[in-house]
Order: sequence, then structure tokens, then C-alpha cells
Amino acid sequence: MNKSKTIIIVLIVALLFSSCSLYFNQEASLNNSSPVSGEAVFHFIDVGQGDCVFIQAENKCILIDAGTEQSGSTVYKYLKSLDVNYIDYFIGTHPHEDHMGGASAVLSSIDVGTIFINGEASSSYFYEKFIDTLIKKDITPKIPDMDCIYEIGQFRLKFLSPKKDFGNENDNSLVFSVQFGEVKALFMGDAERSVEAELLGNKKELDSDILKVGHHASRYASSSAFLNAVSPSVSVIQCGEGNSYGHPHDEALERLEDASSGVFRTDKDKTVILKTDGKTVKKVDGEEFEKTDSSTLEIIYIGNKKSKVFHCEACANLPSDKNRFDFLSREDALNSGYKPCGNCNP
Ligand SMILES: [Zn+2]
Ligand SMILES: [Zn+2]
Repeated sequence: MNKSKTIIIVLIVALLFSSCSLYFNQEASLNNSSPVSGEAVFHFIDVGQGDCVFIQAENKCILIDAGTEQSGSTVYKYLKSLDVNYIDYFIGTHPHEDHMGGASAVLSSIDVGTIFINGEASSSYFYEKFIDTLIKKDITPKIPDMDCIYEIGQFRLKFLSPKKDFGNENDNSLVFSVQFGEVKALFMGDAERSVEAELLGNKKELDSDILKVGHHASRYASSSAFLNAVSPSVSVIQCGEGNSYGHPHDEALERLEDASSGVFRTDKDKTVILKTDGKTVKKVDGEEFEKTDSSTLEIIYIGNKKSKVFHCEACANLPSDKNRFDFLSREDALNSGYKPCGNCNP
């Protein structure tokens, strides 16, 4: 397919905003991993240097990215070993080969219900193959609505970013949370600190139990302020052994350690399987993680990016989500040049 055809397809897709509405060395783990009623399982599949997460509950499943072109058949075989014949939702975070290279191989062999993409065009061969697969299967991908919650069986999917063009393909990754019961997992794609700074505008929305670490644990992602707000019990880094980027970077690992998060990485731990009953998170064949609450988030002052005024949480004049920026202390707000609201006197 030529580039203009790809761009036209992506433009058509962009108009269709959706309405609200292994490696097989782990067979023992896989046998224990099928979710029973009231459970969900998160498979962080080892695809070398790339991302691929499969989330499954009793009746519904979601595939997030599909690894590299080379690992497409690995992902397909992994899903088949779980008896997956239908993927309810596929989310392609951004058109980079280490995330969507395997998408064509998987989706040409397994039927899919809804596909979410970030709408960015790519003229790369793997992406043209992905678009060709969708045309053959007569599926129109959608760009998710940032303001609605998608209920997928017992999962609640909420997209948090991008709400603007970050001018960078990695930062324009789809960022979202998947909630099951009281347990929330946050998926950062390859987004880095500029996205994190934007997300810190709504800290309560960030608070999560499981974190798919941004950009393979690059030093330019996972800032301390961000990890403090997310306060993950367990974090998973998807990266390949001896990768040329040096991922995960030591600085990011240190910040994760400072945040007291359990950390797994697919270069060392291979495929990581986490199971939840909606209350606690447990590694299949492994330890259980304490659910953490971000204690520092008890008092929050809410700033209005437009008026540069800050309010207490109970104020009647709170800004819209778009203009909101949360502060953890009054000093923080004052130091950032915000003035206290005359009504609520924060
Ligand atoms: Zn990547
Ligand atoms: Zn990327």
C-alpha cells in the first residue's frame, strides 16, 4: 500500500471517533493462569524488546500491543495455548514496530471485536500489513474517546492520554487504566515525562496497583513525582535481554525502588503473570502484593491552568478536567504562581 493510501485510511479512521457506550518455558504457570469466576489475569508476554500484554477475565479479554514483527507468531501461539479464539478488544498504543509489529500476524488468525489505535499514520511495512489485515477482515479501528469509560465485562477501561499532540510518537502513545474490582492497572505505552507531567494534573486518577512501566523503563520516564502519585504495588518492565537502548535504565530502576514497588522485567523474569480477585494482586506461582494507597494524596488543591487560581476539593468553582492541575500542598500551588480562590479560601 502506498503512503497516501495509508494516510487516507488513517484520516477516515480519525473521523470515526467511537461513541460512549513465550516462550513456552512457562507451561506450569500457564496451567494455573486461567481465570475462574471473579478473577482476572494479566499476562505480560515476553516478546523481547517490545510490549505485549494479554488481560483475561472469565468472559472477556483485551490484548494490548502485539510485540515485534518477529514475535507475532510467539504471541499467536501463546494465545492459542490459552485457548483464545476471540479477542474482545485490541489496543495498539502507537505505530512502532516493537508494539504493533506482531499485530498483523495475531489479528489475521484470531478474530477481534474492537480495535483502538491512536490514529497516527505510519508508512512502515508492518503498519501497512496491519491496515491490510483490517481491510481484509472489514474492521474499522477507532480512536478512543478520552472522556468515557468502556465497560468490557467486568473491566473498566479509561483512556487518559493523549489529550493533545505531544509532538513525539512515543509520547502520543495511548495511555489508559484497566480496572477490575478495586484493582487498577495503568498502561503507559512508550510515554515519558512530558505526558507524566500532564497526567499529574489529576493525581487521584493515576493511583494504581499495577504499572506497565513507560517506555521500557527509559530514564526519561517514571519520574519520582509520577511514581509517588501512581504508588504501584507491582511494576512490570517489558524489555529484551541485552537490548541496544540499555533498557531498563538504572535511574528508572532506582526511582521504582524508592517508590517501594515490586518490580518484574521480561528480560530477566520472562513472561510475568499476575492474577487478581479484584482486591489483591498475586504473581502466579509467586508472592502476593500489598495493596498500597498513595497516602500523600489525602489533601489536594485543585488549580485552574487558565485562571491560575487554586481551590480546595469541595469548592463549587472547580475547573473542568481539561484545565485542572492538582497540587499536593498549598505551598506547591503558591510556588507555581497560583492564587487562592476568593470563595473557598484554600
Ligand atoms: Zn517501545
Ligand atoms: Zn515507541
